[in-house]
Amino acid sequence: MNPAEALALLRRLDQKITRFSRIGAVLGWDQETYLPEGAVEGRGEQLAALEGLIHEWTVDPAFREALETLQGTVLPEESAAALAGEWRRRVERACKLPQEYVERRARHISLSQHAWAAARKAKDFGAFRPYLETMVGLTREATDYLGPAAHPYDLLIEEYEPGTTTAELKSLFAGLAPELSALVKAIAGRPPLDDSPVRRHYPRAAQEAFGREVLGAMGFDFNRGRLDVTTHPFCTTLGFDDVRLTTRYNEGFFNEAVYGMIHEMGHGLYEQGFDPSLRDTALADGTSLGLHESQSRFWENTVGRSRAWITWAWPRLQAHFPEATAGLNPEAFYRAVNKVEPSFIRVEADEVTYNLHIILRFELECALITGDLAVADLPGAWNERFTQLFGLTPPDDAQGCLQDVHWSMGGLGYFPTYSLGNLYAAQWRTQLQSELDLNGQISRGDFAPILAWLRSRLHRWGRTKTAGQLVQEVTGGPLNPQAFLGYLKTKYGELYGL
Ligand code: ZN
Repeated sequence: MNPAEALALLRRLDQKITRFSRIGAVLGWDQETYLPEGAVEGRGEQLAALEGLIHEWTVDPAFREALETLQGTVLPEESAAALAGEWRRRVERACKLPQEYVERRARHISLSQHAWAAARKAKDFGAFRPYLETMVGLTREATDYLGPAAHPYDLLIEEYEPGTTTAELKSLFAGLAPELSALVKAIAGRPPLDDSPVRRHYPRAAQEAFGREVLGAMGFDFNRGRLDVTTHPFCTTLGFDDVRLTTRYNEGFFNEAVYGMIHEMGHGLYEQGFDPSLRDTALADGTSLGLHESQSRFWENTVGRSRAWITWAWPRLQAHFPEATAGLNPEAFYRAVNKVEPSFIRVEADEVTYNLHIILRFELECALITGDLAVADLPGAWNERFTQLFGLTPPDDAQGCLQDVHWSMGGLGYFPTYSLGNLYAAQWRTQLQSELDLNGQISRGDFAPILAWLRSRLHRWGRTKTAGQLVQEVTGGPLNPQAFLGYLKTKYGELYGL
């Protein structure tokens, strides 16, 4: 195989696998939104068949030969080199996993997700326990195939945040946890903010209408995307021009659906922002989950929970929710959406306590993977550590270890990327402020220059650059927690009079 043939084969397989992966995403999106109860098992078989096919193409010896040929070749374009690098990494990983294992795992994920949803609803960990035991077993089996590594957890995080290690996370969290705890403690010593404004009655239809209006204003293209309802909100991409957002509504709590929508929109804007030259390639994807999360966190918190955004949104809030906003002013609303309070549910957590939820999950996942913690002991271990970190004990497992979908999907190693997203988002904010009148633009609803900045510095590159490269190029330095801690201290110091 000569280099030209090798490059042609790479492009052909890349396009085929990318398209079939998107077809799998359609099946997955449907499963989480509209699939009838009785069809769950059949869908699992379909997804497993598809995943098996994709695995087969990925480990094709001709594909490996093409990638080897290209390794020693100077490629015509930078993106071709990035594509070859991306596939070399994927193929290497895929070749280590037996096909039988891949299909067995995919089948289990489908059943396990369904069992998790039912167990969470019934607040019954026992009903989910055997599925989680199998899942942890499957995950440990994967680390045996993929290893060795300094820590087996390294092999899991590699899939979500390439290049990051368990040791790095431990040291990052060791620096973050005491600062966060001190801030939470200082805030607890002050009079609480009044969040009754966001606890009034917010009709579901009005929440959806408001959400669609603000998402459109901030730049989400509904001509290339949709918004639907699910149990556990997510954003998924079904094609280069098809980005799906999902949410869940709570009429008694404004933040849940609206900030959830803005969060998923942040992911969606990233997915809608890849350079058109990357269409139908594996490079049209977020470069890492931490980078992805930095986009959702940026729009949800940095923008959406700013005084400037509330100033802009206020007349719209009054128009959509005349009863709920009666007698309120923007400042009262701003304070309400920023109340800091230790709580049980991660997705509802405020900016200050959020990372403590992640630190808890990271510690437990490490213990599950090394075998130091048995699945049967998970609820007890969760509640004990939660009580230490938050000063509260979950009343049931639905508000404890059953609350997240991730483990049912085999997503161990995923959680830390949420914290990395928070840290990156603060670094983008600092940089944006030095280049644009960020608050002025937000308060005027002039979101286009902000989105254009994110598009040109981050979105358009897709996976042609790594998260480490991007943070270095955009901010002139590496990932660090200082911008995030500075942002929290300034914002909450002012809100709580610290
Ligand atoms: Zn997210």
